[in-house]
Amino acid sequence: MTNINKRTCQALLEWMNGNAKKAVILTHANPDGDALGSSLGLHSVLLQAGFQSTVVFPTDFPSIVPELENYTNWMIAENHEKEAHQLIDGADLLFLLDFNDPKRTGKLRKKLEQFSKTIVLIDHHPQPLIKTSYQFSDTKVSSTAELVYDFILKMGWGIYLKSHGATALLTGITADTASFSHNAARSELYLAVAGLISLGADQHKVQEALFNTNTEERLRLLGHTLSEKMIILPEYHAACISLTKEELKKYKFKPGDTEGFVNYPLSIKGIIFSSFFMENEEKIKISFRSKGGFAVNEFSSLHFGGGGHFNAAGGESRQSLSEAVEKWMALLPDYSDNLEKEYLKHG
Ligand code: 5GP
Ligand code: MN
Repeated sequence: MTNINKRTCQALLEWMNGNAKKAVILTHANPDGDALGSSLGLHSVLLQAGFQSTVVFPTDFPSIVPELENYTNWMIAENHEKEAHQLIDGADLLFLLDFNDPKRTGKLRKKLEQFSKTIVLIDHHPQPLIKTSYQFSDTKVSSTAELVYDFILKMGWGIYLKSHGATALLTGITADTASFSHNAARSELYLAVAGLISLGADQHKVQEALFNTNTEERLRLLGHTLSEKMIILPEYHAACISLTKEELKKYKFKPGDTEGFVNYPLSIKGIIFSSFFMENEEKIKISFRSKGGFAVNEFSSLHFGGGGHFNAAGGESRQSLSEAVEKWMALLPDYSDNLEKEYLKHG
C-alpha cells in the first residue's frame, strides 16, 4: 500500500504505550485540506486510543473540513502563541504532518527545532529536512491523509477510526488530488478510499466543504484574476498570474480564497507551467504548478527559495510584486528547450 514499515510501527507502538501520554500534532502554516484532514484524522484516533492529543495549526485556515465542530483540543498558534509553546514543551512526542521543512511551520520553527524528545514525521514531500525519531515518508502517495490511514492500520488502531476521522482523512485525499484528478493513478488509493467510506466517511460532505463553499467575493476575485491578470506565454508553454494587496483587499480576501487559482492556466491546451504571485504584508508568496516532466520544486528551490512536489511547489520573494514577476519572465528563456521538450512529450 505505502512504504510504511509494519515493524517500525510496532516498535513505535510499544514505545508509545509505555512512555507517551501527551502527543502534539503539528502541521504547516496556511494549512490546506490535506494538512487539516490528516491532522484531525490522526487526532481522532489518538484520542480514542487513550492519548492526550492536541493539534497545533500554526495559522488560521478556511472552513474546508466537514463537522469541525465535532473536534476538540485543537488550536491556532498565531492566536494563542504562549499556549502553543507550552503545549509543545509539554509534549512527550510530536507528530509532524504534511511538510518536509521546519520553515513551513512559520513562527513555530524555532520551537520545533528546539524539541528534543520523540518526533514522528508522516509526509509525502521529497527529501525531508527535519531530524526525526521515526520517519514515514513516501512521495508516491497521493496525500499525507492516505499515509496516515495506512499508518493507523499498521499501528493496529483501525478500531479507533470512526466516521468523523474517516471523513477528515477523505478530505485530505480529495483535496490533494483535486478530487482524483492528479496523483491519483495508484489502485491502492482507491482501496484506501473504499476503506474510509466503509467506516462511514461522508463523501458528499467532503465535496460540499471543499468545493461548494465559495463566497461571492471569492468567485468575483477569480473572475477578475482570469479575465484581467492572467498572462499567457505560448512560446514557453507557460502562464502567470499576479495579485496585488489592493486587489485582494477589494475582494475581501480571506485565507484560502486563492487556493487553486494557479491551476486554471494549466487547463489551457499547450500550457504546462503555471505560476501564481500574491502580494502580502511582508513578502510575495508564489505557487508553481506543472504538467508532465517539468520539475517545479527544483525551479522554486533554485530561484525562489522554496520547494515542494515535482508538479506542485511553492516559494517566496522579498522583491516587489512586479520585480518578482519580471525575474520569473527573465528566467523562461533558460528553460525554453526543457519546456518545449516536456510539452512535446506530454502532448
Ligand atoms: P502551494 O502552492 O499550494 O502553497 O504549495 C504547493 C506545495 O508546495 C505544497 O504542498 C508544499 O509542498 C510546497 N510549498 C509551498 N510553499 C513552500 C515553501 O515555501 N517551501 C517549500 N519547501 N515548499 C513549499
Ligand atoms: Mn499534502
